[in-house]
Amino acid sequence: MAEGRFWEGCALGELSPAQWESLCDGCALCCLHKLEDEEDGTLYYTRVACAQLDLSSCRCRVYATRSQHEPDCVRLSPETLDQVYFMPPSCAYRLLAEGQPLPQWHPLLTGRPHSARAAGVSSCHFAISAAALPEDADLEPYIIDQM
Ligand code: SF4
Ligand code: SF4
Repeated sequence: MAEGRFWEGCALGELSPAQWESLCDGCALCCLHKLEDEEDGTLYYTRVACAQLDLSSCRCRVYATRSQHEPDCVRLSPETLDQVYFMPPSCAYRLLAEGQPLPQWHPLLTGRPHSARAAGVSSCHFAISAAALPEDADLEPYIIDQM
């Protein structure tokens, strides 16, 4: 894990790969399917999680090769920071991009890798898997009001 409070003193684009990875809190909220309003671009989160997300461990089954398995998976990096607004409001990358602090439950502050899950903020607390639905299922009934 990266040392110190590195995230407070440096721009997101300047982080090392290890620092970048350590910012992810493992909440898996970004693994929820989203619907976009075609007229105004508003993004709506649903409680339907990507079929590759293991809901019992709250981890991606294919993380290293996720782009091959799920072409729509947003692979955020210092080069794709313009996509940070597809992330949920509590996402560490989005918070820092907006100049906000990390939440108290963030693993970098607690020192515990699963503290986001323990705090009850991960998607695995309420999500259902897309694998449990028909491939062409209408996701609109699964839209959630707030993240
Ligand atoms: S929403 Fe952000 S912090 Fe949470 S798992 Fe996705 S990338 Fe990591
Ligand atoms: S492929 Fe993995 S990281 Fe990407 S959305 Fe699905 S579960 Fe999440």
